[in-house]
Amino acid sequence: MNFTTYFSTQRTPQSMAIPGTTQVMNSAGGYAWSVDDWARLDRFLVLGTEGGTYYIGEQKLTLENAQVIQQCIAADGQRVVARIVEISVAGRAPKNDPALFALAMCAGLGDEATRKAALAALPQVARIGTHLFHFLAYVELFRGWGRAMRRAVADWYNVMPTERLAYQVIKYQQRDGWSHRDALRLAHPRTVDAQRNAIYHWITQGWSSVGAEPHEDEVLRKLWAFERAKLATTEGEIIELIQRYDLPWETIPTQWLGSPAVWRSLLPKLPLTALLRNLARMTANGALSVGSTTMGQKLERWLRNNDRSLAADAMLPELLQRLTDQRQLTQARIHPIAVLSALHTYGRGHGVRGKLSWEPLTSIIDALDQAFYLSFGNVEATGKRIVLALDVSGSMAGGEIAGVPGLTPRVASAAMAMVTAAVESQVTTVAFGHEMVRVNLSPRQRLDDIIKQTDRIPFGRTDCALPMIWAQGNGVEADAFIVYTDSETWCGQIHPAQALQEYRRRTGIAAKLIVVGMVSNGFSIADPNDGGMLDVVGFDAATPQLMADFIVGQE
Ligand code: CA
Repeated sequence: MNFTTYFSTQRTPQSMAIPGTTQVMNSAGGYAWSVDDWARLDRFLVLGTEGGTYYIGEQKLTLENAQVIQQCIAADGQRVVARIVEISVAGRAPKNDPALFALAMCAGLGDEATRKAALAALPQVARIGTHLFHFLAYVELFRGWGRAMRRAVADWYNVMPTERLAYQVIKYQQRDGWSHRDALRLAHPRTVDAQRNAIYHWITQGWSSVGAEPHEDEVLRKLWAFERAKLATTEGEIIELIQRYDLPWETIPTQWLGSPAVWRSLLPKLPLTALLRNLARMTANGALSVGSTTMGQKLERWLRNNDRSLAADAMLPELLQRLTDQRQLTQARIHPIAVLSALHTYGRGHGVRGKLSWEPLTSIIDALDQAFYLSFGNVEATGKRIVLALDVSGSMAGGEIAGVPGLTPRVASAAMAMVTAAVESQVTTVAFGHEMVRVNLSPRQRLDDIIKQTDRIPFGRTDCALPMIWAQGNGVEADAFIVYTDSETWCGQIHPAQALQEYRRRTGIAAKLIVVGMVSNGFSIADPNDGGMLDVVGFDAATPQLMADFIVGQE
């Protein structure tokens, strides 16, 4: 009788749990560990549930995650609030909605201390009007407008400096069925500050007339300029209002948004987020062109001939400089996904619905490419030998990261891996499904090419043990394996954690395993009882540095 095929703690098929462990069945029918509720909370806060996963629909995934958050709130509500604030304030997540949703849950379902902490954290997590409206829509699912809630919302308005408040109320007027007027009518903020009161009055009742003379109060002049923009009949009037009163682009009536001259006047003060969103529009409508020469061609001539006169009126160099300024990217909390999304859309040359088309400027694509790496902040090199392993199996093509069209976990993994590849000197990048796939990805390639190349890899079944087996079989020395996956592994003859242990035994290298969770499910191939294995969340802006710290750190 051959005992070796039936029962082993060293070599167990992925269709069975490793004996004596707490492994559970994953969505693919294989066995993996479940991550704890706190790790799951992190996955939710960073990855959200938009688009679901290959195996779990958006609705079910949201429900699952909400239950996990509820468990976390029951265990330690204030810890949940603290975690929400930490991830949201640092701009670690592509979208703030999961943080606002979790905060709304804390504000409604927590014990008294948790509810209080959640409402007190509102201005930190809901930093702009749109955030507040999202929160108001979410919180109604969990509680009513009691006294504490009214006071929290009133404070949101009362605490914000009036200059910022005036900007916020013209920039974001309504969303999700909520407007500032609705919020003020429920919250009734009281203040003795006349300027603030005047803003509240404008929000709730508007002005009966708007004169041609600018308002004498500097802050209220913003509201005046906003009202005047609605009345403008010429491009010149709009441009003057933009230049004099710094009107944000959201306040410009739609009929002017096709005008290149209007965009040129917006550009110098356009926040980076808006810049990323409107690159295509500005290229398409010619805002970045002068006459028949695009700014890109002009810039390239300038660089070639060192003819500085050509750049004197050029906005593109300034735009490129802003896009690649790490300090500005950090201050504006630009998330790498926002850059990747802009690059993905911009490089295509046409919109998703195909209405708008443009000729992408190479210089902008290159700047976005650079901005992607910069938006992760300074990632330190470990100097260690690292295998970056991308799960390119079929399930990784399900769902979308942060709702960005075409940005599947599969292609997003490749982009994410390049951040580590860019700083490390001893990196091998591999891809796997049910077999190893030869890839040739390098951060020297442009990200849109990396995404296209990854997208073309044929789908396979899933065996997450392959990178370790392959490294052992090919004499590849690795101090760390970084596997980007959904941990829905099922078809291998040995579990990934066992393959790593075998690799350690055979090579004598105390190799580590980092699992980069690319979807907000509850599974991991990392053994929670092995200090040399770590779970991190994909597309957390802090992940590359967390991984580097773990790789060099002592167990
Ligand atoms: Ca899979």
